[in-house]
Order: sequence, then C-alpha cells, then structure tokens
Amino acid sequence: MRVNTLKRAVVAFALALPGAAIASVVAAPAAHADGCYTWQRDLYQGRSGDDVRQLQIRVAGWAGYGGIVRIDGRYGPETAAAVKRFQSAYGLRSDGVAGPQTFAKLYQLQDNDCTPAHFSYQELDDGCGRGGWSGGPLSADQTKANAVRTMWKLEALRRGLGDKDLTVNSGFRSTACNRQVGGASDSQHLYGNAADVVSRTTSLCTIARTARSHGFSGIFGPGYPGHATHVHGDSRRENTSDRTANHTAWSAPDCGVGSGD
Ligand code: ZN
Repeated sequence: MRVNTLKRAVVAFALALPGAAIASVVAAPAAHADGCYTWQRDLYQGRSGDDVRQLQIRVAGWAGYGGIVRIDGRYGPETAAAVKRFQSAYGLRSDGVAGPQTFAKLYQLQDNDCTPAHFSYQELDDGCGRGGWSGGPLSADQTKANAVRTMWKLEALRRGLGDKDLTVNSGFRSTACNRQVGGASDSQHLYGNAADVVSRTTSLCTIARTARSHGFSGIFGPGYPGHATHVHGDSRRENTSDRTANHTAWSAPDCGVGSGD
C-alpha cells in the first residue's frame, strides 16, 4: 500500500514538474508519503496540533487498563503512555516519542482510506445491510470519523489478543436500523462509536477482558442481557459532553467483567 502510494506520489510529482530531475524528486519529503496522512515532525510531550490529534486517534486503543486517550490535539502523559504501549506492542523502542519508526509502523498499519489494516468502512457501516453513514443523530462525516476511531481501537484489541481474528457483526446503525434490531435508544451504535465483535479463535470472555485495556469505556458481553453471542465495545466516555462524569460501563458477569473491575 505504502509503496504503491509512494510510486503514485513520485509519478504525480514528476508529471507536475516535467523538467525536474528524478533524483531530486526521490529526495523530496514524499519519502514518507502515505495515502491517508503523513506526519511532518517528531511528536512528544508538550507538542500540540492536528498532527498530535491524528496520532491520538491511532494510538487510542493503547490507553491501558480502564483508560482512555482524549483526542484533544495535546501531547500529554496520557498520549505518551499510549505511544509507549503501541511501540512495545510492535517491537519498537518504547520511549513515548513518536518519530520515524513509530510513523513507519502506523503507515504500515494504515490503508489509504485511513482505516487500519484489519478493518474496513464496509465492515463498520453495515447497519441492517443498508450501508452508508446517514440516518443517525450526527452528520454522515462525523459518524464516519467516529467509526475510524472505533476501528483503530479494534486494531489495537486484535493485536492485544495476539493477532487473532476479530469480526464486526454490527457497527454503525441508523436510527431506523437500531430500532429494528431493538438497540437501546441512546445506543453508541447510532454515533459510529460502537462495534459488536466475535472471533473464530478467541473466546468472548477473553475479548471482553482484553478490551478493558484498549480504550473501550463501554463493554458488554456474556452474562449481560442480549450479549451471549458477541462482545459490544464502545467509546461512550470520551464522547460525552460531560467531562466530569465517569461514563465507563462494563458488564460481562460470566467473564468476571463488571463495572467495579
Ligand atoms: Zn452493541
């Protein structure tokens, strides 16, 4: 993916500048070109900006047990700790500084459409088989952006499970679809913030327990009504307007996962 993107970028650049020598084209910053997003500087504690925000979206699944990474564009201790866990999970030097190696790994994991390697828009937007991102309380763009954040957490969860397969049964649901399947009226599925997952190789309880360390503030699984056949994970805590409230809600009693754990 990345190689193809780089080739395309180089070709496009060469076409735009017919007189340019190939050597200078290759030496251009496009060396780190990525079809979705390219970071232009190292990031570490104290830095802020949209590049920090883009990084936070991609490491939010490495928030640690019971934690979340606020997507606020400010590189604080929370972000540094998540970057450290990300680096460690992928065998990189774990220093909490996002530099070339960290970005290279992110580019490797990232498809050109900004979804992580093992999840796709198609998988997340299959609300009652209709597809698309409209029909919920948020704009289609916002809903889709939320789904991207959900997918990066799923990618982290998948890695945390030891690269086991993880399949989304239900992601975004329009209001009509949510009503049809009997979802809660304020379900996080309406916002693109939730995914119901299953695995062929990993038990639901292992998924539910592991999800606690990957940025999910809403987790429901075996033992919780209606969740015998999948694990629900969502991001209710960072998506509330009430920053002072603790909106973490975990319940999978058959797995020893409760709100007090
Ligand atoms: Zn659900």
